[in-house]
Amino acid sequence: MVIMTDRYAVIGNPVAHSKSPLIHAEFARQTGESLSYEPLFCELSGFEAAVMRFRDEGGRGLNVTVPFKLGAYELSEHRTARAESALAVNTLTLGHDGIGGDNTDGAGLIRDLTQNLRVALLAKRILLMGAGGASYGVCGPLLDQKPVLLVVANRSLDKASALCRHFDAAHTRSTEMRAAPYDELTGEQFDLVINATSAGLANAMPALPVRLFAPGALAYEMVYGKATPFMQFAQREGVRTADGLGMLVEQAAESFYVWRGVRPQTAPVIELLRDSGK
Ligand code: NDP
Repeated sequence: MVIMTDRYAVIGNPVAHSKSPLIHAEFARQTGESLSYEPLFCELSGFEAAVMRFRDEGGRGLNVTVPFKLGAYELSEHRTARAESALAVNTLTLGHDGIGGDNTDGAGLIRDLTQNLRVALLAKRILLMGAGGASYGVCGPLLDQKPVLLVVANRSLDKASALCRHFDAAHTRSTEMRAAPYDELTGEQFDLVINATSAGLANAMPALPVRLFAPGALAYEMVYGKATPFMQFAQREGVRTADGLGMLVEQAAESFYVWRGVRPQTAPVIELLRDSGK
């Protein structure tokens, strides 16, 4: 008897560093789902061809990482509401009904914040730093939690303003949402500050004023696996910090659920990655 194993992959450039194969292998082991999951390197100009080839070879789904999330959005023949809201796709389902696009980044962040870190977002004051793909992915799900204030700060203010305009009409009845340059944050205080910039990867951070954090605040850094300047700054200011490892595992779990209809346990996988320093 031949047992068919469903094939999945993470496609990106670069992709060798990705933890997704390890995470999905753990999910499959834990749930008993029969699947394989591999890294798939793709030339910058070859995204669509690579997806089609993978599908023609029997591939069932792809996670999409830098720099192809917009390409995946455009390639999707049908999209979920959260993918539409994010204008980006990180989860492709290659089914009989065509290529489906979803975005699980926002759900991953909200689960990490509310379930793992036990942070309530209702009526809270949130600062979101960055106006790139990650911010677009998380903005809708953050607004769904009904914070009282969501300020989006970015080096290029026009990008933060465009992001606010994109989300304004749909969500902001219970939330005041506005764009701000970093140097206008002096005197404001937030319960949650999310660093969705890539500055930490280059050991940099946006220029933040001191006393930005309200008592009991959380500083959340989307970059994971290193003590970034933002996390060090927050620790000097005396507040709790979290990195993006939980979000990474939670968005993967959400993709796994989209594909398999089974929700894996994330806590043991987060622990495994942390303990192994992977
Ligand atoms: P983008 O390239 O789309 O956007 C980068 C953002 O960072 C822009 O807003 C840019 O500002 C800002 N930025 C870059 N360098 C600096 C700096 N030195 N000072 C201030 N701002 C800076 O990236 P993404 O939005 O896709 O990703 C952002 C980060 O989030 C990445 O590090 C990524 O690894 C992480 N991420 C983590 C996830 C997780 O699961 N943990 C999931 C998704 C993303 P400007 O517009 O002015 O250039």
